[in-house]
Amino acid sequence: MRVPRITAAAALAALLAVSVTACGQEARGGSRYKPAGGKGGVIGLAMPTKASERWIADGENMAEQFEKAGYETDLQYGDDKVENQIAQIENMITKGRRLLVVAAIDGSALTEVLQRAEDAGIPVISYDRLIMGSEHVDYYASFDNERVGELEARYIVDRLKLGEPAAKGASYNIELFAGSPDDNNTTYFWNGAMKVLKPYLDSGRLVVRSKQTRMNQATTLRWDGGTAQKRMDDLISKNYGEERVDAVLSPYDGISIGVISALKSAGYGSKGRPLPIVTGQDAELASVKSILRGEQTQTVFKDTRKLAAQAVKMGDAVLNGRTPEVNNTRDYHNGKKAVPAYLLDPVSIDRSNTDLLVREGYFTAGQLR
Ligand code: BGC
Repeated sequence: MRVPRITAAAALAALLAVSVTACGQEARGGSRYKPAGGKGGVIGLAMPTKASERWIADGENMAEQFEKAGYETDLQYGDDKVENQIAQIENMITKGRRLLVVAAIDGSALTEVLQRAEDAGIPVISYDRLIMGSEHVDYYASFDNERVGELEARYIVDRLKLGEPAAKGASYNIELFAGSPDDNNTTYFWNGAMKVLKPYLDSGRLVVRSKQTRMNQATTLRWDGGTAQKRMDDLISKNYGEERVDAVLSPYDGISIGVISALKSAGYGSKGRPLPIVTGQDAELASVKSILRGEQTQTVFKDTRKLAAQAVKMGDAVLNGRTPEVNNTRDYHNGKKAVPAYLLDPVSIDRSNTDLLVREGYFTAGQLR
């Protein structure tokens, strides 16, 4: 547990009080929870894994920002094991944490434990990934997930100049990867990408030689890079003899790194056989460096500091009987209710604009060297 930094608390508390009155649609407040009438208490932060840089940053950013707002935090990582995460959340409930912020490992596995949170009067914020099948999800803070998929696919379309008239018969080969099947975001990323790619798949300008064009053929359990690498090895050996892969839709940097390893083992990236366009997501350091080396082509930057700030604002409002600001009350239905959400904007990054990450203070110039 971390010790709150009291000195910064007053400043951030004032900022929070002002910012919740900003524009945007409003949803119901945390009225069924008794306003705490002041700061303090411990916030439970349940994050999925430390295997990916982004979740380490998410957890640390939230811990820091909640502490600045006058709370303590109990930050736990589930090591990508559903049973660990459930046990950690149960423990947070037993210990009387005042609020839970959860980035689910399996979005549909938390119904029972969230019922226990509800019974104990503990509000829940779904963080980045929507928790499914439970009424006891008060708010959702995320990025516009469909937009992430659109940005990746749009990048491929633009780089291959598919919007321009083609020489007769000209087509490109693409292979498709999707995220973990138990993560609700996976469908949003996929649908966003397919909306952009479908006309070109239908017209034959884009060809999936493996014919694995359905999401359930393309998913990658737990977003695992090694799993993606194996699938890519297999796709190449079974479908690409003389033919070459021109583009790979990848929804996460860890998957992109796995895909690129498979491509390199098959001789891509050497003379006469350039690497295909490979997209990604999260602007993880290894991938940004790969982009600068000319290997991975694109990623999608989602500023985890801003997402953490949003979750902290929401949590602080709920705990103090105020109504958090939301900007989407319709699109994130979890099977039980449309969860009021605040969605941030993702940004596409390629070699031409990695400096944005330095300007925004996400990385130092030294880290990208
Ligand atoms: C997140 C992505 C991340 C992926 C793998 C998704 O739920 O939205 O940012 O790349 O999980 O960790």
